[in-house]
Amino acid sequence: MVAVDIWWADLRSADIRRAGELPAAEAARLDELDAPADRGRRLLGALLLQDAVRVARDSAPGATVEIDRTCDACGAPHGRPRPADGLGPHLSVSHSGLLVVVAACADAAVGVDVQRVADGGSSYLSVG
Ligand SMILES: [Zn+2]
Repeated sequence: MVAVDIWWADLRSADIRRAGELPAAEAARLDELDAPADRGRRLLGALLLQDAVRVARDSAPGATVEIDRTCDACGAPHGRPRPADGLGPHLSVSHSGLLVVVAACADAAVGVDVQRVADGGSSYLSVG
């Protein structure tokens, strides 16, 4: 049996002051975006990735890990996130509307996708 941990956050909880909790390279990625909502989603995704890795590794509170997003296909930094030290867990991040979701799995590659439903009131989550 393969266990997947799901982490999620609501965009309305995004607090840019928490960027200081991220590794420097992750915090710097926030500056690539202009729209506050986009920055908020990226911030929350980065924070959830750190949470997911910390819990998967039973690391100390506040411990951080660099995240590598090198695309397997073209080498650009838009691939699936993974801990840069080459250790687990497998990770996936998705966001839509107000919801930011991270999936983590120690044993196998994982993918998560979230899509806002057309009425805007709810979101649909799939994990594979
Ligand atoms: Zn690519």
